[in-house]
Amino acid sequence: AVVRPTPESDAELAFEGALRPKTLAEFVGQAKVRAQLQLLLDAARLQNRTPDHILLAGPPGLGKTTLAMIVAEESGRPLRISSGPAIQHAGDLAALLSSLVPGEILFIDEIHRMARSAEEMLYLAMEDFRIDIMVGKGAGATSIPLDLAPFTLIGATTRSGLLPNPLRDRFGFTAHLEFYEAEELERVLDRAAGLLALEIDSAARQEIAGRSRGTPRIANRLLRRVRDYALVHESDGLEAVQAALALYDVDELGLDRLDRAVLSVMLTRFDGGPVGLNTLAVSVGEEAETIESVVEPFLVRIGLLTRTPRGRVATGEAWRHLRIDRRTDGLF
Ligand code: ATP
Repeated sequence: AVVRPTPESDAELAFEGALRPKTLAEFVGQAKVRAQLQLLLDAARLQNRTPDHILLAGPPGLGKTTLAMIVAEESGRPLRISSGPAIQHAGDLAALLSSLVPGEILFIDEIHRMARSAEEMLYLAMEDFRIDIMVGKGAGATSIPLDLAPFTLIGATTRSGLLPNPLRDRFGFTAHLEFYEAEELERVLDRAAGLLALEIDSAARQEIAGRSRGTPRIANRLLRRVRDYALVHESDGLEAVQAALALYDVDELGLDRLDRAVLSVMLTRFDGGPVGLNTLAVSVGEEAETIESVVEPFLVRIGLLTRTPRGRVATGEAWRHLRIDRRTDGLF
């Protein structure tokens, strides 16, 4: 039962949906991104046109899907949701784009995982609201141009570095979502507790916020686990928080089992590094993409890991946090 930053079940999804802020004003934190989006929406409204395409970049659970929904809500436009892995052929994208109604907002999650052929079709669609559909094969192949309704694309990615430049350049702007400060997560929790009619004292709230990996999705999920614990054990406050989080393997810094497995492998098998990403992924039995987009950004952010040209290196803080003594034998 590792608390991962991606939804795991229908119940989790329903829970997330219920807690999603509906307006920019309700959206906690990310002040810079909110101001940028507000300006973009206001300008589009004044000129009576579709808002520019937007790329949302950052680790999972920081609010990319929520922001896409808010943009649709605030601009009074319908929203269509798709994802990179669902677009495996140019034809999938052509079908999607040609069915959009004028002014519709198209949200493509994990846009870096879309097929290459679709990516190329998207360039023209984003720029000129037009696509070329290829019919036939070989010498007899022809392309038929098709005009599209104007739309706004919102792409989300955990890895903006993976997007080809021509695609990245076609977004009016890229919002980089940062991990949330503990104080912001306290506000997220406060709001969620209110919506769920839960009582939570400030010590408990602070404790959950401090252990949520800077991620609202995790904060909300931990709140739910703490609520379960309080209900079953008829306890509350700080005690319930600490017991529940210990049960779910969330440590004082908010690291979960995978975070600790990665660090522990680095320290015990590679003497702290440098270790290459793929070696690390194989050693802990996870995909390299998960390590790179989920585990690593947070470990870097809290100063337990650094990235160097030769690989990942654990910091002195990592040795202290995992309480592992660095081997010094063989030196003298
Ligand atoms: P993924 O890319 O994995 O889908 P995401 O970045 O799109 O993640 P969301 O699904 O938008 O993340 O957010 C996850 C949950 O966190 C939502 O249920 C929402 O309630 C909550 N949340 C995210 N950002 C905020 C915020 N700024 N204020 C309040 N709640 C938030």
